[in-house]
Amino acid sequence: MRLVLLGAPGSGKGTQAARLREHLQVPHISTGDLLRAAVKAGTPLGLQAKAVMEAGGLVSDEIVLGMLEERLTAGDTGNGFILDGYPRNLAQANALDALLKKLHQPMDIAIQLDVDTELLISRLAGRAQVEGRADDSPEAVRNRLKVYNEATAPVVDYYRNAGRLACLNGVGAMDEVFQRILEALAPTPEVG
Ligand code: ADP
Repeated sequence: MRLVLLGAPGSGKGTQAARLREHLQVPHISTGDLLRAAVKAGTPLGLQAKAVMEAGGLVSDEIVLGMLEERLTAGDTGNGFILDGYPRNLAQANALDALLKKLHQPMDIAIQLDVDTELLISRLAGRAQVEGRADDSPEAVRNRLKVYNEATAPVVDYYRNAGRLACLNGVGAMDEVFQRILEALAPTPEVG
């Protein structure tokens, strides 16, 4: 199963991706995690990305695509993958299609977790206190939500128009949301 998880910051992509990884036994590939690891390791790429990330902006398409290609060719994606945090704009969506075509691994489905803005803001504020991520400051959060609405929302339409989107309600208990995802992955006929 090759799937893409879409959703605003705070929509629960990371949480659900971790569960899906256990369930599907495929790697969870988060471009945010890959970038944070590069920042932490102090690689040239990480040094370039750091300030943009802290401000809640998008790291350059070229950097992220290079990193993603490297990750997708690491040899552990034979049974699929869960992609989280990519694509974040239309150029990335096109680049992903081209890359997966080249690798003969077309994606199966994009799943969007839909959560309204008020709730996103309160979830991110809660997380800021627990995790202390540099980009969970109020200003960076505002910017990340703006970037999501302007650059990433069109990606949702891109997959919808291609008939590859499942849009799910991302509000509710973590287990409930997970069940919704599983249903979207393997639609079962109603019984009774
Ligand atoms: P969130 O979904 O909560 O914003 P992520 O961990 O997915 O968190 O991303 C954190 C930051 O990493 C983003 O705000 C952005 O700066 C950078 N980033 C992650 N993925 C991408 C991407 N595909 N393109 C550009 N920048 C990215």
